[in-house]
Amino acid sequence: MSLDTGKHKGTLIIVAGPSAVGKGTIVKELKKRYPDLFVSVSVTTRPPRPDEVDGRDYHFISEDEFQVMVAHNDLLESALVHQTHHYGTPKTPVQQCIDAGNPALLEIDVNGAFQVKDKMPDAYMIFIAPPSWQELERRLLGRGSENYDQRRRRLRTAHKEMALRERFDAIVINDDLDTATDEVAHLMSLA
Ligand code: 5GP
Repeated sequence: MSLDTGKHKGTLIIVAGPSAVGKGTIVKELKKRYPDLFVSVSVTTRPPRPDEVDGRDYHFISEDEFQVMVAHNDLLESALVHQTHHYGTPKTPVQQCIDAGNPALLEIDVNGAFQVKDKMPDAYMIFIAPPSWQELERRLLGRGSENYDQRRRRLRTAHKEMALRERFDAIVINDDLDTATDEVAHLMSLA
């Protein structure tokens, strides 16, 4: 289901939604299909996972480096995700992409999405939703790497994020990866 079935011509597109809903996988699939698409690489203070590459998946930085970027106003938005690590969108690459007339794609959390919308009201916000709350719980709790408190916190955050979905321009349900990717590509006027 989508709230807006029309094609979108805007240049800044935000893909947001609860953790574990699969938004990162959709963006990776889009990048595979459209290698020239600009996808913003966020900074984060969390340590890299074994399969992650610095500069490709994230710019992994220290808390001090993050605070310097905030002080210099280098970030378009930033958030403390799951009350644990800082994440932020470097402003300059996004601005350069938009100035060149190309679409820029951000994959960020719901809090960050509203910060960007405040600064750039033309941004088009797509909410990635799970097929059901039970399925999101299964995906969230299925990530075996976290302890009980961390899982409860993620569920609480996901509840709050799901409650905000109607404020987005479109909702894409991630039941099947190919279909969800098709829908996002259509909303971005890529397909
Ligand atoms: P992960 O640590 O699993 O890669 O990401 C955790 C959450 O942080 C995800 O919901 C992801 O969308 C969000 N996130 C990643 N980069 C950014 C960013 O630059 N800003 C904000 N606000 N959230 C981000």
